[in-house]
Amino acid sequence: SLEVSDLSMAYGALKVLHGINLTIKPGTVTCIIGPSGSGKSTLLRCLNRLVEPSDGDILLDGDSIFKFKPEHLRRRVGMVFQQFNLFPDHTALGNVALALRKVKRMPKDEAYKIAAARLAEVGLAERMHHRPSHLSGGQQQRVAIARALAMNPEVMLFDEVTSALDPELVKGVLQLMARLGESGMTMVVVTHEMNFARKVADQVVFMDEGRVVEAGRPDDLFDNPQSSRLKRFLSQVL
Ligand code: ATP
Ligand code: MG
Repeated sequence: SLEVSDLSMAYGALKVLHGINLTIKPGTVTCIIGPSGSGKSTLLRCLNRLVEPSDGDILLDGDSIFKFKPEHLRRRVGMVFQQFNLFPDHTALGNVALALRKVKRMPKDEAYKIAAARLAEVGLAERMHHRPSHLSGGQQQRVAIARALAMNPEVMLFDEVTSALDPELVKGVLQLMARLGESGMTMVVVTHEMNFARKVADQVVFMDEGRVVEAGRPDDLFDNPQSSRLKRFLSQVL
C-alpha cells in the first residue's frame, strides 16, 4: 500500500500542497479529481519522487520512499504522462525494449521478448514494428503504458493520459486502464474523465488549492458531495 501522511510541497515560495493524507490500498484504483492548479500532478510527482516534498512522508509497503534511490523507486512505481515521451527514432517494440535494457539491464533477446508480450497485451501486436509517427495518439499512449508495465511495477500512476488525445481515441485507452484496474493493478489516476472515475475507481479524491477536500467511494462523492467546493466543481464538469 501507499500511505501519504502530512505531505506538503512548495515550488520555491509557492506552497502547492498543504498536509495531504491519503491511503492507497493494494489492488485498488484511486482517481484524483479537482480544478486546474489544485496540485494533482504535484501530488502524483511526489509519489515517484519527480519532485521532493518539503514536509511529511510517503510509505510504500511500510518503508519511506525517501530511503530508496529514486531510480529504484521508479521500478516499483511506474508513471504515464499526458505527453507520451516516446523515442521517435525507435519502433514501438524498440521503445519498450530499450527501457527494459536500460532500467533492468536485461539482455537484448529477453527484452524484445517481454516487450512484444507487453505490446500484445495493450492491443498493439500488429503495430509494434512501427515508429511513433506512424501510430495514432491512442496507440502511442498504449505504447507508453506498455513500457511502464514492462517494469512490473507495484503501483501505476497516470497523469491525465487521455487529455491530449482526439476524442475518438480516448475510449480505447480508458478501456485498457479499466482492464488493468480489474486485473488487480494498484493505480492512482489523475483524470478529468468523471465517468471513468465513477465506474472504475474504488476511491475518488477531490483536491482543491493543495488540499484533499473530500475522499471516498465514487457513488458517495458524485451523488452526495458534502462540501460546497465539490458541489460547485461537479456542477461545472458534469
Ligand atoms: P492541471 O489540472 O491544470 O494539470 P494540477 O492540479 O495538476 O493542474 P499542478 O500542476 O500540481 O496542478 O500545479 C499546482 C500549482 O503549482 C499551480 O499553481 C502551478 O502553477 C504550480 N506549479 C506546477 N508546476 C510548477 C513548477 N514546475 N514550478 C513552479 N510552479 C509550478
Ligand atoms: Mg496536472
